[in-house]
Amino acid sequence: MNGTEMYCTWCGDDVPPLRWATGRQTCLMCGEEHARLERLSWCVVQEYGKGPYQLITQSAAHTTLRQTNQKNLRG
Ligand SMILES: [Zn+2]
Repeated sequence: MNGTEMYCTWCGDDVPPLRWATGRQTCLMCGEEHARLERLSWCVVQEYGKGPYQLITQSAAHTTLRQTNQKNLRG
């Protein structure tokens, strides 16, 4: 009967107190999903790292990044 509510901010499921204590406000399932999405977000560019290495010039890489990552158009 303590007043603290520890519910997942994603699905509303209850979060284990120990997990909550670490600052995570998502249940285990959503936490994994969240981690996976974060990983995906910084893995996008690595698609080109699969398989044999490809030598690309810096300007070519810049163009490639701009084409594949249109949400972050910079300079
Ligand atoms: Zn959840």
